Amino acid sequence: MRKLNIIEYPNIDKGRIRLKSFCTYNYSYVPSDDLLLKLKNKKYFIKTHGCQANIRDEETLSGLLNSLNMERVETKEEADIAIINTCAVRENAEDKVLGEIGEFKNLKAKKKDLILCICGCMVGQPHIVNKLTDTYEHVDIIFGTHNIQDFVRLLDIYIKNPGTRLVDVSSKSGDIYEDMPSLRVNKFKAFVNISYGCDKFCTYCIVPYTRGKERSRDIKDILKECSELVKQGYQEITLLGQNVDSYGKDLNSNVDFAYLLEEVAKLGIPRLRFLTSYPSDFKDNVIDVMAKYPNIMKYLHLPVQSGSDSILKKMGRRYTKEQYLDLVKKIKEKIPEIAISTDIIVGFPNETYEEFLETVDLVKQVGYASAFTFIYSPRKGTPAARLKDDVSYETKVKRFKELVEVLEVDVNKYANSLIDKVIPVLVEGPSKKDPNILTGVSEANKIIHFVGDKSLIGKIVNVKITKNHVYSLVGEMINE
Ligand code: SF4
Repeated sequence: MRKLNIIEYPNIDKGRIRLKSFCTYNYSYVPSDDLLLKLKNKKYFIKTHGCQANIRDEETLSGLLNSLNMERVETKEEADIAIINTCAVRENAEDKVLGEIGEFKNLKAKKKDLILCICGCMVGQPHIVNKLTDTYEHVDIIFGTHNIQDFVRLLDIYIKNPGTRLVDVSSKSGDIYEDMPSLRVNKFKAFVNISYGCDKFCTYCIVPYTRGKERSRDIKDILKECSELVKQGYQEITLLGQNVDSYGKDLNSNVDFAYLLEEVAKLGIPRLRFLTSYPSDFKDNVIDVMAKYPNIMKYLHLPVQSGSDSILKKMGRRYTKEQYLDLVKKIKEKIPEIAISTDIIVGFPNETYEEFLETVDLVKQVGYASAFTFIYSPRKGTPAARLKDDVSYETKVKRFKELVEVLEVDVNKYANSLIDKVIPVLVEGPSKKDPNILTGVSEANKIIHFVGDKSLIGKIVNVKITKNHVYSLVGEMINE
């Protein structure tokens, strides 16, 4: 076995701690001359799994490595440093990542100097780090979501001690690092973090342990970042937080999410979105700001998770079915054209058929434009994972299919309502199936395909919708 240098091991109990004094704001980052020399012209590869927060972390890691004059490459075979940025939200995502890490074994055998690094939420869990250090000996550096700013220092330690594997996964709630270098994945759509971590502790969710205490960025730093994106010609900004609605609660000021949203909207970005909303923290003033600014997309992702009050309680979600439906009603009254999407978990431990039917009923009442449905996946270390579950997986799959059928009725209805309408579409690139077709997204995040020139990529164009394929639509570009 290769030697192992453990700087810090993840600790779920420590990750649970919430103290006010934890967060400090750090500005400016300078890489050392020594490392600049060692890594100059080397190549790196990054593969990211999971959510937008991980994509934003990837951009910071790319920025860090580019500041060392390294070059990003698209295949692992070309790389001197390979990073796998992992997701811990569901077990099948973890299995996929472990398979991918295993595939590196052959490459490492051929390319001895390749440095394989694993980061992201998965390594915030002690059992995963155990597994990696015990059975994936070809992994060189393991670092956590709170250690991204340390990555260059970790590389330095590793390069000075070749062959010694490194683990540095802090469970401290994390500080805020501003002015980190960043290389954005997309040249016209940008994610901007407004807060990190989560304090909600839904009983099934590992995020509060792996991403730590909820901490808001200073509004001046967010506005500075957004202004720069507007100046650079970006077409869309998505404000990111595990719970955007609680933005500012930890700051000693009157700033809340509605205020921040309005200030960003005023900067004039053509499209503004935000993710993710928490129903009982969603305030009326956010609805007012959404209604007031045409550049705030009339699209809202509002995770409900379940329509059963008893399951919501067991999940630790702090609202009832009725409160959720009241909120949806209020939003629809003020913004009639709103498209709402959601997340739903089917098969929470011991969910009865009657409880499941409450979810079906809620889905019918809301009429979602789109939805992300999942079968419950226990996450080690969370309270729900300790529950005994007497519902079989087959039953859960059956209910899952039943729910998807119900959801599709409204998803289809929403898509049909767009037929013959002319809608603005942000062109993202050529379609994966046919390079002669362009793919873009509507205000409500619907995928739209149409024939057009590649010079339109990154622009917002008007498209008349002609066909509905339920999860995507086909249209014709309208020249004005
Ligand atoms: S709000 Fe709940 S589901 Fe969302 S990140 Fe926080 S704990 Fe997880």
